[in-house]
Amino acid sequence: MKSQDIRSKFLKFFEDKQHAIVPSAPMVLKDDPTLMFVNSGMAPFKEYFLGNAEPKSKRIADTQKCLRVSGKHNDLEEVGYDTYHHTLFEMLGNWSFGDYFKKEAIAWAWELLTEVYKIDKNILYVTVFEGDKGDDLPMDQEAYDFWKEHISEDRILMGNKKDNFWEMGDQGPCGPCSEIHVDIRSDEEKSKVSGKDLVNMDHPQVVEIWNLVFMQYNRKANGSLESLPSKHIDTGMGFERLCMVLQGVKSNYDTDVFTPIIREIETIAGKDYGKNEKVDVAIRVISDHVRAVAFSIADGQLPSNTGAGYVIRRILRRAIRYSFTFLDQKDPFIYRLVDVLSKKMGEAFPELKKEKHLIENVIKEEEASFLRTLDQGLVLLDGIVSNTKGDTVSGERAFELYDTYGFPIDLTALILSEKGLKLDEQGFQEQLEKQKNRSRAASEMSTEDWTVLIDDAEQEFIGYDNLEANVKITRYRKV
Ligand code: ATP
Ligand code: MG
Ligand code: MG
Ligand code: MG
Repeated sequence: MKSQDIRSKFLKFFEDKQHAIVPSAPMVLKDDPTLMFVNSGMAPFKEYFLGNAEPKSKRIADTQKCLRVSGKHNDLEEVGYDTYHHTLFEMLGNWSFGDYFKKEAIAWAWELLTEVYKIDKNILYVTVFEGDKGDDLPMDQEAYDFWKEHISEDRILMGNKKDNFWEMGDQGPCGPCSEIHVDIRSDEEKSKVSGKDLVNMDHPQVVEIWNLVFMQYNRKANGSLESLPSKHIDTGMGFERLCMVLQGVKSNYDTDVFTPIIREIETIAGKDYGKNEKVDVAIRVISDHVRAVAFSIADGQLPSNTGAGYVIRRILRRAIRYSFTFLDQKDPFIYRLVDVLSKKMGEAFPELKKEKHLIENVIKEEEASFLRTLDQGLVLLDGIVSNTKGDTVSGERAFELYDTYGFPIDLTALILSEKGLKLDEQGFQEQLEKQKNRSRAASEMSTEDWTVLIDDAEQEFIGYDNLEANVKITRYRKV
């Protein structure tokens, strides 16, 4: 089943169950001081859960662009090293705002997976919240009892607060959840273990695909929980992971969501995927990061030196360094992947097609600019490494790389970790603070990196300095 069909089957299934289908909200948040990017399907609906706004429909289904690179949910370090965490991914979701609750959410999830997608029941596991003393929360007996109607009890596992109590951030709507996991280990792999060890949720091929959150509480700023005015359903299924299962492959990167980008990288760089681990990591990182950066630019968030823009710049510079060091790309190259990306995803996300030239131009310019200093910066870094006694590089040296060569701190830390060294991040922050004090005025312009994407095909890229400030984008607003 092609990824397009997998996505539309999901939406169709819930449409048939009276859900209104809505487009993804923009990934970049401007109004929420607790969150920079949408990190889950529920973030755009937060106000409905809190009872501050009324949804047009009590049942909604969608696919939401999510980014997990900062804050409570940060998967950046996993990306490229494992095969199922991305920076940007699609979260398929069905929602009930004060309408149906656990019984239907569980029954429909099961029906969709086993009857529509026809996933073998014998590879599925589910988890249920075991309760938590600190927050004075009971075990989720209700969910357990509903699951029992569909799946044998040895496949229902108890989970702790970390995995089975979902929270968007330090504050906001939250609740106990049930996760659905798929065991895609080969028979040979499974035959190596027996008895109790057969259920090994930490195995890289036992993958969580869907989380059903039973939204009942609001975490307040002081850390306490209060009950929400009504009960809601919030589910999130990782689209790329679902594709992996349904396409019978062992890695998200082997699904048709990623293979066209990976083939393009192989062609342009003259490297083969699957021959050398370092090259493979680089190819996975680049194919992941180009999506995050492209979607972000399409939503109006360009790379910049502050706030959300700097998050995007860091992701892109990370990708540039992987392509420079491991794929020998000394000239701008990542922008050349945008074409195949927009062809592949443009139907589901028209903004990618529409803003294609802007995306290409911004990435190309950003690549050219970082490539001007990357080489020298790496030479300097090599010198620092050979002169370092002990295992930690000082904050001053990292600051020099940041200030003169444009190396984001996490990039320096990553390169050092490849060489077995650590970085004095606190020392770096002190240097940064000193510099900020020297130029207070600049840091007050935190909204300068916002641009208007005019609804006009004539829009062209005119460079960072001329961008209009302070305008909110409303084009893709939900509901
Ligand atoms: P994991 O335990 O694998 O990190 P999670 O519990 O953090 O996942 P949730 O917050 O429950 O994830 O999000 C709902 C679903 O979104 C998950 O079940 C998973 O399928 C998918 N998902 C979560 N994080 C990522 C990611 N970084 N890349 C791709 N899919 C993801
Ligand atoms: Mg996670
Ligand atoms: Mg999890
Ligand atoms: Mg989860």
